[in-house]
Amino acid sequence: MEEATFLTRFARSVTVVHRRSTLRASQAMQNRAFADDKIAFAFAFAFAFDSEIAEIAEIKEADGKLAGVVLREVFTGTTRDLDVTGLFIAIGHDPRTELFTGQLDLDEQGYLAVDAPSTRTNIPGVFAAGDAVDHTYRQAITAASGCQAALDAERHLAALGDEHDLAAVPA
Ligand SMILES: Cc1cc2nc3c(=O)[nH]c(=O)nc-3n(C[C@H](O)[C@H](O)[C@H](O)COP(=O)(O)OP(=O)(O)OC[C@H]3O[C@@H](n4cnc5c(N)ncnc54)[C@H](O)[C@@H]3O)c2cc1C
Repeated sequence: MEEATFLTRFARSVTVVHRRSTLRASQAMQNRAFADDKIAFAFAFAFAFDSEIAEIAEIKEADGKLAGVVLREVFTGTTRDLDVTGLFIAIGHDPRTELFTGQLDLDEQGYLAVDAPSTRTNIPGVFAAGDAVDHTYRQAITAASGCQAALDAERHLAALGDEHDLAAVPA
């Protein structure tokens, strides 16, 4: 609902296609979307959404625009064309942290676990920041907490410097 509302700034109309029967957005976000004249919903039947994109019509080479999509009702399989010139997919977030599985602690949703408010992970000297940690905002400005990870790393190295030759620590 948040993404659909955002898109109304750039489009004459936005059609929401949702594969389940009910929405999971907060009631406030749903109300805002329902009240927005620019937002339409693809209903399968009796105001249940239950629709998905079955086909994406070929992009016309001449103008590079999307020609349209084919919608499919989830339970009946019935299809119909929908003329649209853009398609935006918003189906949730899946942090790309597979690389660290078995090495760094992840939380139950797969984000890297840090000792907040620091960027320390469970392995000394390894710090994490950005979208792989952030459940809530996932924005460039919050990802810039990478700077905090750099500060944490610098302090870590400084503390090590008392005991170790820093030149021996890999970059
Ligand atoms: C469509 C879109 C629009 C957005 N608009 C805005 C906006 O308007 N304003 C805003 O503030 N934020 C916006 N964001 C969010 C913003 O882009 C992110 O919050 C930010 O880029 C996160 O930075 P990051 O460094 O944590 O991760 P990323 O920028 O995703 O960097 C992660 C890097 O790790 C690399 N990587 C992944 N897996 C591996 C691997 N196995 N090995 C090696 N490298 C790997 C990736 O290739 C990537 O380069 C938008 C995001 C999207 C997708």
